[in-house]
This record gives sequence, C-alpha cells and structure tokens, in this order.
Amino acid sequence: MSLNRLFRLISSALLMLFLALAVSLVWIQWGLYQRGTYSVPALQNFRLGLIAMEKVSSERGPSNAYMGARAHERHGFYQNLQAARVASDAALTNLLLAMEKDPRLEGAATVGNIQTVQQALSASRLAVDRLGAQAEDDRNQMYVLSAVKSTIDMMPLLVRVVAELASVADQADPELRDGLAAVRATASLREYADQAGSAFIAPLIAHRMLDPEEVVEIGRMYGRIELLRSLLSAQLRTYSSEPAFKRGLDELDRQYFDNGFQFLDYLLQVGLKSGEYGLTPAELTQRYGPRLQSILDLRDLVLDDMLVQAELRNLRARNFLIAVILLTVIACLFFQLLMVLIRRRVVQPLVNATELVVGLAEGRLDREIPATPYNDEIGGMLGALTVLKERILERNSLAREREALITQLQASSNTDFLTGVLNRRAFFSHGQQQMAVAQRYGRDLSVVLFDIDHFKRINDSHGHLAGDAVLRGAAQTALQLLRKVDVLARYGGEEFIILLPESDLQQAVQVAQKLRLALRQQSFEIDGGERVGISASFGVAALADGRTLEQLVKLADNALYLAKQTGRDRVEASS
Ligand code: GH3
Ligand code: MG
Ligand code: MG
Repeated sequence: MSLNRLFRLISSALLMLFLALAVSLVWIQWGLYQRGTYSVPALQNFRLGLIAMEKVSSERGPSNAYMGARAHERHGFYQNLQAARVASDAALTNLLLAMEKDPRLEGAATVGNIQTVQQALSASRLAVDRLGAQAEDDRNQMYVLSAVKSTIDMMPLLVRVVAELASVADQADPELRDGLAAVRATASLREYADQAGSAFIAPLIAHRMLDPEEVVEIGRMYGRIELLRSLLSAQLRTYSSEPAFKRGLDELDRQYFDNGFQFLDYLLQVGLKSGEYGLTPAELTQRYGPRLQSILDLRDLVLDDMLVQAELRNLRARNFLIAVILLTVIACLFFQLLMVLIRRRVVQPLVNATELVVGLAEGRLDREIPATPYNDEIGGMLGALTVLKERILERNSLAREREALITQLQASSNTDFLTGVLNRRAFFSHGQQQMAVAQRYGRDLSVVLFDIDHFKRINDSHGHLAGDAVLRGAAQTALQLLRKVDVLARYGGEEFIILLPESDLQQAVQVAQKLRLALRQQSFEIDGGERVGISASFGVAALADGRTLEQLVKLADNALYLAKQTGRDRVEASS
C-alpha cells in the first residue's frame, strides 16, 4: 500500500475515533446539562408540594377553632375556616395543575395521591362542618377526636407527594440532596408541631384531662419533634455553612422551641393535672400558630437558596457545555490541521522525493526538483536531491564528452591528417573486411595504387606547403571520381591506394585511366593563386584465388613500378 494511501486511511480512522470520542463527551455533558435544567422547575414543584402541605396543615387551626366555637363565635370562625379552605384548595389545585403538566411525573402516583387528599379533605371538612354547626354541649367527644384525626390522616399522602417531588429534584441535581432533606425535615417539623397542638383540641373542647393514650401520643410527637430538630440542624450544617442558616435555626429555636414548646409543655402539665386549660381552641391556635412561622421561614430560606444555587449550577453547566463544545471543535480543527500539515510537509514531500529518487535512478533527469520554503529535514533532503541530480547531470555530460573524444580520437587515428582521407592502417582494416566478403561470396575486388610523378620537383620549386596543397587537391579529385563503396587512402608520401569492391581487373584499369586523365587535366592552386598541373602513374591488381590483401597490394605496387619504369603518366595492370 502506498504511503499516501496508508496515511489517508490511518488519519481517517483516527479522525473517526476522535470524532466519536468528542461526540460522546459532548453527549455526556449535554445529558448532564439537560438533566440539570430540570432542577429549577423540579424545585418549584417541590415548593408547590410543600405549600400545599403547609396550607392543608394550616387549615387544622381554624377547623379546631370552629369545632370549639361558642355560638356567638361561630360565624366569625367559619369565615376564617373558609378562608383557610380556599387557600389550601388553591394550593392543591396549583400543585395538581403543575403535576399534570410535568412529563417527568407521568405514571407516578403523585396526581392520584393529590386527588385522594382532595377527597379526604372534603370528607374531613363535612365532619368539621357538622360538629361546628352543633351546639357546644351537643358535640360528641368521639366525633371531635375523629374529626381532628381526619385532618391528620391525609398528611402521609401529602408527605409522599412531597417525597416524590424531592426525588425528581434530587435526580436532576444530586447536589440538592442535603437541602432537600433539610427542607423536608422543616415540613415534617411543621406538621408534627401542628399535630402536637391539635392533640389538645379535643380535651380543650371538653375541658377534660388528657387520657393516658393521648399522653403517650403527645410524648411520641415530642420525641419526633426533638429528633427532627437535631436532624434539621445536622442537615443544614452539611448543606451550607452560611451564617444565614445558623441564624434561621437560632430563630427557630427561639420562636418555636423556647416559646411554642414551652406553651405546649404548659398545656401538657394542665392536661395531666386538672384539665382546666383556660383557653379555647381558637386561642390556642392564635397563641401557638404564629410560633410555627419560624419553621416556615427557615424552610423558605433554604428553598430560596437552593433555587439560586440550582440556577447558578445550571448556568455553570451551560457554560461548561459551551466550553466543551468549543474545545472539541477547536481540537477537531487542530487535529485536521495537524493531519493536513503532516500530509503536506512530510508524507507528500516524501512520496514526491521517492518518485524523484526513482526517476533519478532510472535516468529521468527532466523532472524539476521542487524548492521548499521550509528549512526542515524534508527541505534538506530535497536540497540533497538537487545536488545529486546536478552531479548526475555533470557525470553524464562528462561521459558524453569522453565518448565524443573517443570518437574523435578514433576518427583521427583512422584519418590522414593532411588530406582527410583514410590512412594506411585504416585502409588495411577496411580492406581486410572487404576481402573477406569478396572471398566468401566469390565477388570481384581490385586494388589501384598511384603515385604522383616527380612530386619532389613541386616541393623543390614551389615549397613544401604547395606540395601539401597539391596532395589535398589530388585526394579530392580522386574522391569525387570514385563510388561511395570505393575506399581511398593515402598509402604514404605522394602515393594513394584505392580498393574497388565488385570490380574486376578491367574495370579497375578503366577507373585508373579515368583518374589519371582527371589528374592530368586538373591544375592545382598553390600559394598566391599560381596553379600547377600534375600527372600520376597507376598500378592495378585484381583479386584471384588465394591472394591476400598484402599480396594484392604488392602486385599493384609492382605494376606501378612498371608504370614508372615505362615512362610515367600511365596505367599498368598486374597479370
Ligand atoms: P617519381 O616520379 O619517381 O615518383 O619521382 P618523385 O620525385 O615523385 O619521387 P621521390 O620518391 O624522389 O620523391 C618524393 C617526394 O615527395 C619526396 C618527399 O619530400 C615528398 N613528400 C613526401 N611526403 C610529402 C608530404 O607530405 N608533403 C610534401 N610537400 N612533400 C612530400
Ligand atoms: Mg612520385
Ligand atoms: Mg613515391
């Protein structure tokens, strides 16, 4: 697999992995943020639940007052009771509406529980109304007790509703847990404190002592109230160390435990001794009820703080989510950038460099080696490649020069420097080849040897340079006359030799004659425009069986000698 492809595959796989990680991280943060955004509405619902619980509980005081009312008080107390009922109905309806709208409570028992409370409340109100409408002395003790009890019996259901709402808030934001527990403790405290007050209603109405069961019950409630007090303070401590909560708790102690509880203690003492309490249920409610406000104040203090904290945490979660998304996007971009950078600055240059090296190795030197603007290792490698290419080019040009020199040298070693025709050595090398061909195929072959007559005289009378010019001219004349296949060479001094392939003795003699006449007719220009004429003598020999080239030349030389002897400017053939 090519490096480029491998890199592309690996980087895509890495990018996928990276994206999957980034998406899951964002997803988790998104989930946490989403869950957190429920915390504020959940707390608001929780508060509605607590208010409903408080209002239903608060209805008990006016109920008690109404049930203990004397004839002239009845109307006024009923007005109060109606107002309390309207308030608790409104609180329950608000809660119910909020619950019905909340999709997180779908399928939960909450809505059903509230409706049950509403029904129980109606039944309890009927009993209270019936008793309140009766003349003071007609009120049956048992009915009073059961009516008071009926206002208490529905509370566990409301406590369950509140617990359910607390659990939804807790799921949305687990950091609310301690606050929720503290608030629930205040709600229970408020309820038990109220119930503890209500426990004296029936004896108060009947002006009687507490019976042992009631004493036990009141004792149990005291125990619960004390327990809730210590629970509340422990939970508040874990929830927050802010001095405001400490102050709220101190106020609760002062208002309720010092004053309210003392009042209950007084009632208990009276209930144990004489049963002459000296106050009506309405007066009890009037004196005792306001002491409970400090519990509600503390409840609201914690609730308000929880809402502020939950909103703050939501804001922080939102900012964190935005930061995570931004960082993820930046990280992805950086990753992509890194991949592009590695590809552009490492992988691609490496691939290109490899192609260039392979190209250089295969001798393809036309490709340009790119210049890199970066002063890095790849740049160094490309620089080294440029040097390598230059060296190869240099070496190649040297090799070409050497070959040219060799060819030149070869040419000069075969050529006669003065006339430009072949020299004697080259003649024999060519001649041997021609001889071999002629002998193998039984072809004709002849040799003509000619020597310029009285050449010495030209030298003597016109100078050596003039002699040279004549030699060049004679060679040119011969070259023009001969065929391409004929081989003309300077045999030595003013003597030339011609090899005539495919020519027998007679044809060779004819060529010799033609050349002799041509040389005779020609005049050669020498120094200063002067011209000289020459003649030459020719010896001809033809190939016959068994003759070597040397023998053939020898025979031609003999014939030439004869031509010189017999008067020059003539052709003699060897027989
Ligand atoms: P013959 O008719 O008997 O051949 O008489 P010749 O004068 O031509 O012969 P000879 O052998 O007496 O003289 C040849 C002369 O050719 C002598 C030598 O100086 C001259 N010669 C040989 N080579 C060259 C050359 O390359 N250039 C010049 N200018 N002269 C040369
Ligand atoms: Mg001569
Ligand atoms: Mg000679």
